[in-house]
Amino acid sequence: MARYLGPACKLCRRQGQKLFLKGERCYSPKCALERRDYPPGERGQASHFRRRRPSDYERQLREKQKVRRIYGILERQFRRYFREAERQSGLTGENLLSLLERRLDNAVYRLGLADSRAQARQLVQHGHFTVNGRRVNIPSYLLKVGDVVAVREQSRKLDYFKNRAEMLDSQRVVGWLSLDLGALGGRVLSLPRREDIDLPIDEHLVVEFYSR
Ligand code: SF4
Repeated sequence: MARYLGPACKLCRRQGQKLFLKGERCYSPKCALERRDYPPGERGQASHFRRRRPSDYERQLREKQKVRRIYGILERQFRRYFREAERQSGLTGENLLSLLERRLDNAVYRLGLADSRAQARQLVQHGHFTVNGRRVNIPSYLLKVGDVVAVREQSRKLDYFKNRAEMLDSQRVVGWLSLDLGALGGRVLSLPRREDIDLPIDEHLVVEFYSR
């Protein structure tokens, strides 16, 4: 599956907002946005000081791009999630966020088994996880209520996961997941609801973007 391979920090600078794409670094003074709070490119600094009020379209586009970048998804796949969210009952924007949250790579990140969604994606692709006892290496795999995610038996011996086990903290795990320290994984307790998703996203703007 294709994915964005350029510099992650550039995306935050383009967005003008921290998207927390690089784990620990995002919380340190090394964060690119702390040092260069203006858009990338030759004219980024100049345009930053000539800021005007964005149009409705720009705001909608920016918000859509923000959600896409947070979850590391390309446009075509994102549009598919949106169409699926529209088909479901309830609010489309909330359905969309719930679908994105249920991705296996996101759940691995939310359980604290990776520093970022990008890292979680790589770990999943390398086959380090099982869902209900079966190995799954598809980052977009959609979890259901009751599914059990765990680090594969063989992978638990790796230094990375041994170190990770000491860092896990059930207090930091989102409400729709429960952490199982022994299995280095967790269980899906419920479908993610909007209040479970602590991201500064205005999903209504995303819905407006695709409804134009
Ligand atoms: Fe964004 Fe993190 Fe890079 Fe800061 S360090 S610009 S939050 S990806």
